[in-house]
Amino acid sequence: MAYDDTNIFAKILRGEIPCNKVYEDEYSLAFHDINPQAPVHVLVIPKGDFVSMADFTASAPAELITGFFRAVGKVAEELGLVEAGYRTLANAGDNAHQEVPHLHVHIFGGKKLGPMLDSHFSGS
Ligand code: AMP
Repeated sequence: MAYDDTNIFAKILRGEIPCNKVYEDEYSLAFHDINPQAPVHVLVIPKGDFVSMADFTASAPAELITGFFRAVGKVAEELGLVEAGYRTLANAGDNAHQEVPHLHVHIFGGKKLGPMLDSHFSGS
């Protein structure tokens, strides 16, 4: 899938629309999700044109991959989530209901989170 630079996170990265920023460095930007699903719900995005985890890990320079994942860990630390625990999640494509076609890692925390996925999977 080709990268569409009109997506909302591309606009946030270009400063065309605001975000509630929690962290930024040369590789990444982290901000609060506009529709939080947990007491803490932050998104971390890489600075670059990457649709998904597969796209990013195949195409991004090693320094950016390292910097991005360091940022995810640092944000969890700075948000005070490490001791109690937290969840990271990255949706990709239709089956996962990815809404925004720019790689983003969700960080959820601040309460006991529910099961990883819904419990209706029967194995078939
Ligand atoms: P996903 O379904 O994994 O693509 O998640 C996209 C996430 O982006 C959702 O949790 C939305 O609430 C969030 N979102 C969409 N627009 C914005 C925005 N302008 N600022 C912050 N979060 C947003």
